[in-house]
Amino acid sequence: MTIETILVLNAGSSSIKFQLFKGEESVLSGQIDGLGASAWIKGKSAEGAVIMDRALSDEEAKNHNTALQVILALLKEFDSELEVDAIGHRVVHGSAKYSAPVLVTDEVFAELETFNDLAPLHNPHNLAGIQGAKEAFPGKPNVACFDTAFHRTQEFKNEAYAIPLKYYEEGVRRYGMHGQSFHYIAEELHNVAPEVANGKVVVAHLGNGASMCAIENGKCVTTTMGFTPLDGLAMGTRSGTIDAGVVFYMMDHYGMSAKEVANLLNKESGMKGLSGISQDMRDLENSDSPVAARALEYYENRILREMGGLIAVMGGLDAVVFTGGIGENSSQTRAGVCKGLEFLGAELDEEANKGRAKDALVISKPSSKVKLMAIATDEEGMIARQTRAICEA
Ligand code: ADP
Repeated sequence: MTIETILVLNAGSSSIKFQLFKGEESVLSGQIDGLGASAWIKGKSAEGAVIMDRALSDEEAKNHNTALQVILALLKEFDSELEVDAIGHRVVHGSAKYSAPVLVTDEVFAELETFNDLAPLHNPHNLAGIQGAKEAFPGKPNVACFDTAFHRTQEFKNEAYAIPLKYYEEGVRRYGMHGQSFHYIAEELHNVAPEVANGKVVVAHLGNGASMCAIENGKCVTTTMGFTPLDGLAMGTRSGTIDAGVVFYMMDHYGMSAKEVANLLNKESGMKGLSGISQDMRDLENSDSPVAARALEYYENRILREMGGLIAVMGGLDAVVFTGGIGENSSQTRAGVCKGLEFLGAELDEEANKGRAKDALVISKPSSKVKLMAIATDEEGMIARQTRAICEA
């Protein structure tokens, strides 16, 4: 089957992000926010023309199914002749089973529902998006693309936690996240830096959520996120890796419930908790407060601590790629991390590092032993590419 037009959907609890691709090209993007309450849809063409920008009626905002009908109307307004050939869905969790995207049949859908416990804040909404798309685009193929799939190449020694084996077998493992982004960068390196594409690369996806991946020969060796997106780096509001003993202490000493500790570590920690100012890097970088400066230093140091582990596990380093909102835009964070890698012969080009990653930015000097880059990620583009591959196979 030839696939020309692909709609990519990323359905969350109260939002649905969408992007329309014709061939490899993104022609339209937008988002519905506020589902379940007072919802709003905004969509614009790649040229910036606003196609729709309005509130949803209560009826339209009721659930993912009704919201998908509004997206359908937007697509018709964009191009009345438009035929969507396939729909690619971001699905956060694919459990230990899925190492690649999958065409969603009724059987697969029923199986995906059994993964809801692994990502209760994400997967049920992702599946609601699939359900809605089935109704809005009857008969069209829906493909589930998993955030965890890219990390299924991890060996046991990197995937397991040192707890009784029974739990590993029952699914308590380092699943990893941000797989679409890492996969995209791994493929993009063949275009923008072929000399390192098959080498040993650490990709730092630094956004509100953040994780790093050790990639060798285009495959994940290991990653900093674990069973949940709470693991690894310090993030906007998440603590990242923490001694599990702290959790027991919070419960015993402060009388907190498991839910309260989860809230503390997921929503009140990270840069927000450490600075007491903001979770947003721009606010911290623009602040004169020494507390903000200390939080930023902490952020970079946590990256370096984790990076040391990733490099040692790969047994070397050819390149570091920064991506995500912070990785693509924050010269300060990149500089802090790259200076910490000077002992490996990494040499930062300070002038080049002032730029932002629109496509691919080389920020190392030609003499650097480690190639340093910033590359703009494209998770939706990756989902579209994978959806096409599955449908055309
Ligand atoms: P998400 O993980 O929600 O997709 P993004 O990848 O968009 O998030 O990243 C959001 C982060 O990027 C925020 O912390 C924001 O401060 C940061 N960011 C965006 N632009 C800049 C900039 N110019 N300088 C520093 N940080 C930036």
